[in-house]
Amino acid sequence: STIPTVTLNNGAVIPQLGFGVWQVPDDEAAPAVGAAIEAGYRSIDTAAVYENEAGTGKAIADSGVAREELFVTTKLWNSGTVDWSGQQGRDAVLRAFDESLGKLGLDYVDLYLIHWPRPMHGSFGNIWKAFEELAADGRAKSVGVSNFGPQQLKVLVEESALVPVLNQVELHPYFPQHELRAFHAEHGIATEAWSPLGQGKTLLGEAVLTRIAEKHGRTAAQVVLRWHLQSGVIAIPKSVTPSRIRENLDVVGFELDAEDLAAIAGLDNGGRIGPDPQGFD
Ligand code: NAD
Repeated sequence: STIPTVTLNNGAVIPQLGFGVWQVPDDEAAPAVGAAIEAGYRSIDTAAVYENEAGTGKAIADSGVAREELFVTTKLWNSGTVDWSGQQGRDAVLRAFDESLGKLGLDYVDLYLIHWPRPMHGSFGNIWKAFEELAADGRAKSVGVSNFGPQQLKVLVEESALVPVLNQVELHPYFPQHELRAFHAEHGIATEAWSPLGQGKTLLGEAVLTRIAEKHGRTAAQVVLRWHLQSGVIAIPKSVTPSRIRENLDVVGFELDAEDLAAIAGLDNGGRIGPDPQGFD
């Protein structure tokens, strides 16, 4: 079964389903990412702050899959303890990027993201300038952002020639982000969903989802991931269990109908699991 792809605003192509490794300890990242690549995932989502870039890189090196067939994402931890303004801020970005590349054991990443906007520091615009340099020299094939709101995206779109290829945000049936997605569409920014399964807790037990799952002979997780694909969203579910890793990728052989989609739309309660990025520091 072939994973659908999304073409980004710079022409790069990203698989619509990827594998996320948040909260996977470094020594468990290698077997988990190895199982994911073995199962057929070609997109991997890590971050400096996950502290598992080394294990992720080891799995990539050991996979036997050609580098150009993989889409590797990592993220800048633009923490508040560093001064990200001015020239020293630019240098700090490039240093952090080199450190990530070194841990991954790669000479480029497919996508580098600003992890949080931290709007209270007013430094994301300066960080973005350094990202433009990384994109220009090809060490980051694409650059984008995470947890940005329309306010911050507007600043980048207005002040930079380089529009983020995507914005990775919390998105699942409880919190479908309709307004933000409309804003993205208007500006050619793709939408990537983090915690696409709502972290697998209450969401996957919803009667609405188990009923739709039964109807299609699928699982609730597969129904939710299918919903992401049909919404045009890129999803990066996480699991360390090989059977679930495979299950989460096996979502191309069925289609949710209008009735299913309407029922899933009814789960929208505006509820986030994670913090509101506008206040997160
Ligand atoms: P998720 O929605 O992918 O849920 C993962 C959890 O769901 C698993 O730990 C497991 O408990 C359960 N699960 C997975 N597959 C299942 C299945 N088939 N059946 C039943 N239960 C299943 O949550 P997540 O890990 O928070 O998000 C996915 C990825 O998104 C992360 O690993 C990370 O890469 C990324 N992320 C990014 C940010 C950000 O700020 N940019 C924040 C959170 C997560």
